[in-house]
Amino acid sequence: MVNTFIGLLPGRCSIATPGVEKLAVDVICGMKVKEDSKFFSEFQGKKFYFCSSHCKETFDKNPLKHSR
Ligand SMILES: [Zn+2]
Repeated sequence: MVNTFIGLLPGRCSIATPGVEKLAVDVICGMKVKEDSKFFSEFQGKKFYFCSSHCKETFDKNPLKHSR
């Protein structure tokens, strides 16, 4: 039963569990991410949070386009 853990692998967009924590919106894919996410960038004094390193990299390549 090795396939059991495939859905738990990091790096994919998974739906954040709603709760009492503050949620930010991943501006790349539009999903909500917790503000304790380890994927975030600071741009023009504002913090942007992402669901994955992939979304963060996409933002970092062109923060102006995505931060509007
Ligand atoms: Zn994302």
